[in-house]
Amino acid sequence: MTDVIDGDAVAADVRDGLAGAIRTLDDAGVTPTLATVLMSDDPASETYVSMKQQDCAEVGIEARDVELDPEAPAEELFETVADLNADPSVNGILVQMPVPDHVEDRDVIRTIDPAKDVDGFHPENVGRLVAGDPVFKPCTPHGVLKLLDAAGVETEGADVTIVGRSNIVGKPLANLLIGKADDGNATVTVCHSRTENLPEKTRRADVVIAAAGVPELVDGSMLTDGTVVIDVGVNRVERDGESTLVGDVDFESAKSKARAITPVPGGVGPMTRAMLLYNTVKATSRQAEVPVDLP
Ligand code: NAD
Repeated sequence: MTDVIDGDAVAADVRDGLAGAIRTLDDAGVTPTLATVLMSDDPASETYVSMKQQDCAEVGIEARDVELDPEAPAEELFETVADLNADPSVNGILVQMPVPDHVEDRDVIRTIDPAKDVDGFHPENVGRLVAGDPVFKPCTPHGVLKLLDAAGVETEGADVTIVGRSNIVGKPLANLLIGKADDGNATVTVCHSRTENLPEKTRRADVVIAAAGVPELVDGSMLTDGTVVIDVGVNRVERDGESTLVGDVDFESAKSKARAITPVPGGVGPMTRAMLLYNTVKATSRQAEVPVDLP
């Protein structure tokens, strides 16, 4: 029987686990506060931001909503971030990506105070993660590790193949999985668009993590019986004249081979959202110097 890993349930456990930490902060007179900055009129980005704000409200994190005209000069965004950096009542800052073309992603990321960088993308936080001393693990990779743990998957000594080398998923995940930590100690292969013979790399893995942004790229023929499959991909495709969401894994054929597999939706997506709350609570605890137990 294949275990279909329930990301909604694991995410709910993380949120429940954060409740105690939020109470501890509350008792100390501190309300964790996340500022979301949206400089886009893309409906998907607007939806992501409003979901994040809703998530915050549900667990008792205050969400500060900052919206900028997508046509505004880059300096306006940098000044907004600088103001949020300087505001002691703001604990976490999330600039919703992508920003408009006239603003460089990396310039925005570098402007955020590393102590409030709840996405974990600032070079200082990336460096700490690579050095094995992370403060904020980026939300999606962290969520993947939590899912593996919840599914009882031992990473130590496991062969893990990651399909995708992006800065937000593939690279941080690879670094976390090779780290000397309870949720690391894996042997990791990172594949990308120039990788030759991808099926050979996925077939030899105990765990396959697909994060390529290519609909149903990984199918059952590319897996060995008993593999654990984590599908990070979220792709909107047309099927029978209707728009639907699919992952980077062909779920049905992969499920026939997998020991455990995440669905799309309901797998990694809810975990990414939960780990943003986790990082916001962690940032608050560090800034307020109020120790908390994190789930
Ligand atoms: P990206 O486009 O930045 O990177 C994709 C990576 O996949 C690249 O490194 C590329 O080299 C590799 N790739 C592309 N085609 C490939 C192929 N045919 N074979 C092997 N490798 C290939 O994407 P990203 O931001 O890392 O996101 C990846 C997917 O995950 C997307 O579908 C995205 O929507 C999804 N995503 C989901 C969540 C979530 O919370 N569920 C979070 C982040 C990203």
